[in-house]
Amino acid sequence: MARSYLTRAVSKRTTPQSEALPGSTQVANSAGGFSWEVDKWKQLERFLVLGAEDGTYYIKERDLVKTNVKSLEACIAEDGLRAVKVITEISDGGRAPKNDPALFALAVCMAKGNKETKQAASAALLKVARIGTHLFHFAQFANALRGWGPVLRNAVADWYLAKEPNKLAYQLVKYQSRDGWSHKDLLRLAHPKPVGDLQRLAFNWAVGKEDWKPTGTGLAMIGAFEEAKTADEKRTIELIAEHNLPRECVKTEYLKSVKVWEALLEKMPLTAMIRNLGNMTALGLLAPNSAGTIKVVKALADRAVLKKARIHPLAVLTAQLTYKNGRGLKGSNTWTPVASIDDALEAAFYLAFDNVPSTEKRYFIGQDVSGSMTMGNVGGVPNLTPAMASAALAMVTYKSEPFLYYYGFGTGGGELDISRHQKLASVLGKISNINGGGTDCALPMIDALKMKMPIDQFVIYTDSETWAGDIHPSQALNKYREKMGIPARLVVVGMEGNGFTIADPNDAGMLDVVGFDTTVPAVIADFATDGGAKAATATED
Ligand code: CA
Repeated sequence: MARSYLTRAVSKRTTPQSEALPGSTQVANSAGGFSWEVDKWKQLERFLVLGAEDGTYYIKERDLVKTNVKSLEACIAEDGLRAVKVITEISDGGRAPKNDPALFALAVCMAKGNKETKQAASAALLKVARIGTHLFHFAQFANALRGWGPVLRNAVADWYLAKEPNKLAYQLVKYQSRDGWSHKDLLRLAHPKPVGDLQRLAFNWAVGKEDWKPTGTGLAMIGAFEEAKTADEKRTIELIAEHNLPRECVKTEYLKSVKVWEALLEKMPLTAMIRNLGNMTALGLLAPNSAGTIKVVKALADRAVLKKARIHPLAVLTAQLTYKNGRGLKGSNTWTPVASIDDALEAAFYLAFDNVPSTEKRYFIGQDVSGSMTMGNVGGVPNLTPAMASAALAMVTYKSEPFLYYYGFGTGGGELDISRHQKLASVLGKISNINGGGTDCALPMIDALKMKMPIDQFVIYTDSETWAGDIHPSQALNKYREKMGIPARLVVVGMEGNGFTIADPNDAGMLDVVGFDTTVPAVIADFATDGGAKAATATED
């Protein structure tokens, strides 16, 4: 006993997680253990994808935001153009469940960057603020950060000026105001100089001037919206069919009409469709084998359509959990779920990720089900804990990889009784019933070695707040590699926007990725095959 204690104290190969690895750059995590600090650029990705909403089990929201802002400012100071590029790629690529972190980060670039960064951020606003609501959120962030200088005014003015009259009209009528901001406010602050009559008239209409009457067909949608304010049901349906009028332009009393919804569904954007499945089912528009159901099921089955609409898997998962429940999150709306729509949502969850190849490598998935992973929620989704979110994510790899051992750990660990054919709701239900207590992220490697299980790639889903083990995860991996003679890799999937990781930044066989980035399952497969997976499937996509 005494001897092993002394050996441990001097050996570099087994350091308890309550101490930093000797000679390493590890820092204390929030749980009293030691992990590495993630690189500031990886931290930026974590913030953009995972946000900081509701904080973590260990870190309050306010402090988590502060940490992320500090890290973002360091990125901007080092390379502002790169920061703008990362923000644009993640937002425009539809890789994050929510766009608010990107809008916030862009506002910080505009406030804190040098001249070039400010210009790049202004130019990026068109790609990052794709709809009126985004623009309102951006305005709110920018307002809180610095007030309205010329760079910001010009960027907002350009947002309006860059749009064709009919697209401008759509933004004006569909997204009228949000969070105390309206187009009227922004147009008055930014003073865009209209190019041509239609733009001038559209601006006039938005700020409430008398002179807005459309002279051509370009502003027909505004005319239709004005008419819909006093139209009867029959005329409302005609206006929807003729002008593609969105739900936001329909009088509240007609939002209970199945005929109105039938007309709306014809050209309904996918995001709105996914949000209104319960509604449309309650109205009877979506029923087993109905025309509406067939339309919805087909739309959800098309990967390209999902991608184009930037439908995030987390949005699909949220919709599915609510739909299956037969009851809205707010209000008293209830419905009887249609099985084929539930199935279509299940399939759409997997389709919404980048295409994931099957590498046929030997996988060991280590899912952190310790206490900190079983509380709070991910992406602002009520009742979706980091552990449940991890399980949904792990299922993407599980479905595509034939050789995979699915393991859960806290203070102890063991195989999870979950099949690759199981439905998401059942997997999440199972995970939500587990609380593994303390956290020892070295257990996957320790137990794989104990079982002499050959593994090419470990994938650990965790918040990296590890503390309970008497050996660090990276040491356990090295021990596994040595004893098994396999150069096993480790992918750490960060499930919180904190600054920690158990992946050794100096080990090329370890990789940090950000949970619920839609590219992650494909990146995991790619890492397992040295980039071969992507190349092999590039032609299939
Ligand atoms: Ca934990």
